[in-house]
Amino acid sequence: MKLWFLTGSQGLYGEDTLRQVAEQSRRIAEQLGEALPFELEWRPVLTDAAAIRRVCLEANGDDDCIGLIAWMHTFSPAKMWIAGLDALRKPLLHLHTQANVELPWSSIDMDFMNLNQAAHGDREFGYIQTRLGVPRKTVAGHVSDPAVAARIATWARAAAGRAEVGSLRLARFGDNMRDVAVTEGDKVEAQLRFGVSVNTYGVNELVEAVDAAADADVSALVKEYEDLYRMAPELRAGGERHESLRYAARIELGLRHFLEGGGFKAFTTNFEDLGGLRQLPGLAVQRLMAEGYGFGGEGDWKTSVLLRTLKVMSAGLPGGTSFMEDYTYHLTPGEELILGAHMLEVCPTVAADTPSCEIHPLSIGGREDPVRLVFDAAPGPAVVVGLSDMGERFRLVANEIDVVAPPEPLPALPVARAVWRPRPDLRTSAESWITAGAPHHTVLSSAVGSEELTDFADMLGVELLVIDEATTSRQFTKELRWNQAYYRLAQGF
Ligand code: MN
Repeated sequence: MKLWFLTGSQGLYGEDTLRQVAEQSRRIAEQLGEALPFELEWRPVLTDAAAIRRVCLEANGDDDCIGLIAWMHTFSPAKMWIAGLDALRKPLLHLHTQANVELPWSSIDMDFMNLNQAAHGDREFGYIQTRLGVPRKTVAGHVSDPAVAARIATWARAAAGRAEVGSLRLARFGDNMRDVAVTEGDKVEAQLRFGVSVNTYGVNELVEAVDAAADADVSALVKEYEDLYRMAPELRAGGERHESLRYAARIELGLRHFLEGGGFKAFTTNFEDLGGLRQLPGLAVQRLMAEGYGFGGEGDWKTSVLLRTLKVMSAGLPGGTSFMEDYTYHLTPGEELILGAHMLEVCPTVAADTPSCEIHPLSIGGREDPVRLVFDAAPGPAVVVGLSDMGERFRLVANEIDVVAPPEPLPALPVARAVWRPRPDLRTSAESWITAGAPHHTVLSSAVGSEELTDFADMLGVELLVIDEATTSRQFTKELRWNQAYYRLAQGF
């Protein structure tokens, strides 16, 4: 994955000035590139409409290029940009910067003024982008300012997520849980809007892959589990339930084989449709999520898509990202908390400590007791985000939260969990979330936050509502109403 750095100018300045423009823009690109999570490729200075259009078409056609950063070092008359911007289908960031930080007050002359015109050159560029309705992020400031570079890096991560979801393939084992509304959705619209292709496979195709796993591979994987996790004695070699651990390993091998074979980076399961599987996949799902796969329970492909996207956006960052479900509340006034978990499937990247590998009964699914990793999520700021299909479009809702250590140990709870304080408070958060029709399945991430999500939603033209410290129920309700009108108008007829 790569980003391209475009510099706008015009022929009027003459070769000498254009050479300086090129040198300085190269330097700016190099400095910025060091602060970005992806390679930043400098492209030659653009001085005419044909070259601008060509570079935009080239970007569209290059799968490796995830976005463009454009800066008008000098004045680049913006009619030159109309054809290119109109054709551009890649995310765009408008960097409003200049070569120098300080003005050379004592030596400044008209040559300097001619060379350093971004202050008005970028305004001309802003005008044409707005006039054409080009979605983009505008970042102002010198690239040596870490806050400027950080905002661009955030956008770059969103662009990586956008590229990923654009070519993502998701395998569903079985359909959605019967009668559930919010996990449904329009898969054709999802493919048009996001690019993701979502298809269902009979669960017994997975069972075949599970049964076909070689015993030697199962043994090797079990050994890996023993090295990585605190293993319940009954699951260890020689323990009375060791066979269940071996079967869990078999599920992981079969799942991975199936997903790799089909080029799938996300999947769903449904406890109502387990076919010949002897356990509901728990440990296997947790470990595949930790490797970066998207997952949604009960056939929830939308949350699985979102999880895979956030995994790609957060690559290399500290913190973790997991499938999550709002489960139950602690409602003591002033101390309100949400306990999030799922039947089994919480990703160990959010764990505070080494997970414990355990086996417990699970009535849901009606199969043998499933093996799972149990842990508490690490405390710290995070975000939960959900994707709903509102009928005529998709809606993302995010809540900024603070994951906390459980106030007391939870010795009787045999699943991984996260305990958090939603911002601004539980009442406002829950009321806003529910009023927005946001789902009970979410992605929890302590690696990326609402700015990445905002950039991502803007790139796709998808609504994003953020519930944070500043949210009030009154304002949020209004925002919902305005957005309803805006997004209907924005998508046309
Ligand atoms: Mn669920």
